[in-house]
Amino acid sequence: MIPTDGNTMGTSDTQRLLREQFRNYLTAGLEPLTSQLEAGTELPYAFMREMVADLGLAEALDDAGAEGRELAHQAHTLLMVEIARINPGFGMSYGTSVDLCAGNIAKLGTPEQIARFVPALRRAEKIGAWCLTEPQAGSDALRSMKTVATRDGDDYVLDGTKTFITNGPHADVMLVYAREGTDGSIQPFLVEREHSGVSAGAPFEKMGMKSSPTGQLFFDGVRVPKENLLGLGIPDRGHVRKSLADERVGIAALSYGIAERCFEIARDYAKQRVQGGQPIANYQLVQGRLARMYVALTNVRRFLFGQHEDISVEEICAAKLYAAEAGSFVATEAIHILGGYGYMQEYVVERLARDAKLLELGGGTTEMQILTIARHILRE
Ligand SMILES: Cc1cc2nc3c(=O)[nH]c(=O)nc-3n(C[C@H](O)[C@H](O)[C@H](O)COP(=O)(O)OP(=O)(O)OC[C@H]3O[C@@H](n4cnc5c(N)ncnc54)[C@H](O)[C@@H]3O)c2cc1C
Repeated sequence: MIPTDGNTMGTSDTQRLLREQFRNYLTAGLEPLTSQLEAGTELPYAFMREMVADLGLAEALDDAGAEGRELAHQAHTLLMVEIARINPGFGMSYGTSVDLCAGNIAKLGTPEQIARFVPALRRAEKIGAWCLTEPQAGSDALRSMKTVATRDGDDYVLDGTKTFITNGPHADVMLVYAREGTDGSIQPFLVEREHSGVSAGAPFEKMGMKSSPTGQLFFDGVRVPKENLLGLGIPDRGHVRKSLADERVGIAALSYGIAERCFEIARDYAKQRVQGGQPIANYQLVQGRLARMYVALTNVRRFLFGQHEDISVEEICAAKLYAAEAGSFVATEAIHILGGYGYMQEYVVERLARDAKLLELGGGTTEMQILTIARHILRE
């Protein structure tokens, strides 16, 4: 779908064309919808379905070859950047359904599970959720997990509560991590909304990412056939961490989109806002802020469009930490450069700054990235 021309900076002609195509499409469709999505009077899923169909996104991901997958991955990253420029919350709902839920099923599922769940999720005909966090198990999700799956004949019975789940209030398919009774390992189970014993709380009121419904999910004696254990059991203990690592790349794309848009708004504003008889961009103190915003933006771009093959866990954590902080930093600086206007809801930077904060928390907080980096760089 998207050739790279050997250019790894996201700026080759083909990538530029693709970004333009995404931007035009999203400006026409997502931008006007955003005030309803933010107010919660519209859900993101109808437009998601439309977008996937109009841009041919599900077909691109079906490409079986390694090269095709790499190109589809790059196109997906560009799409997430373009979405984040307009509405990061929508991007979070889409990324959770398509990357975290469908992506993990595609990677770890049996051929039957893939055929049954992945196409409908990728076409956004079904909405997916990825359920790890619990009320008492956040940063320490794996060790403190209380949700259990107990084997009973040909079924598993799930009991537990998940919280802060993106798409939780509306998801059709849930990838639920639970402690498996026989050996206590953490395993992902495929749970569907119609399974008896599944219920969802009302969407939470949040600081930002308001276009993305978030909520609690309750599993009360939910009986699923043993065929719903993803991959019929994942022996590799690192699979949850691997999923988190994939999520972190998506978070970097959202952060970059936020930072890029905020930087551009602040730069253009500084050039036209006149105070003291001249554009504020003439003042070195303003230039200093813009230059530091640019430094952060450039560093995130280098990671995002750099080589991801053989990337280590500590590099991914470093990039996630840096990108998330950069998104918040650039968005907050943009508010500052716009002065009082930046603080008004009429200007998009205040919303993007609120959305950006979540990226420092989700997918593992900054502290969790630091602890993982330290663990890896200090080991033999
Ligand atoms: C809008 C939103 C959407 C989300 N979507 C999903 C989703 O789809 N699926 C999902 O599974 N989860 C989701 N989450 C959950 C998110 O991943 C968690 O909020 C996050 O992992 C932090 O967990 P916690 O909120 O329980 O905070 P805690 O773990 O209680 O942390 C509180 C503070 O203590 C710090 N802290 C904790 N442990 C340590 C330590 N050992 N050393 C130093 N500092 C520490 C943290 O860094 C943080 O600053 C979402 C959260 C939000 C807000």
